[in-house]
Amino acid sequence: MDDHAEDRLASLESVWYEIVEAVNAGRTAGLICPECNAPDGLTVEEAQGRVIVSCPNCKRVVEVGIATA
Ligand SMILES: [Zn+2]
Repeated sequence: MDDHAEDRLASLESVWYEIVEAVNAGRTAGLICPECNAPDGLTVEEAQGRVIVSCPNCKRVVEVGIATA
């Protein structure tokens, strides 16, 4: 059902919210994937005003837009 898919997406965004907030605050070290909790942590790459956070373990990739006001 579509409603269920939207719920899943919303919960996915909420587990990553903490990571997105940390990256926005400039804390990119020692981040742990909220989905698989891989001990190796997350890879953070910055490119042209965007930050790509990826998990080498579960292959999740999350793009963070950095506010540059
Ligand atoms: Zn992961």
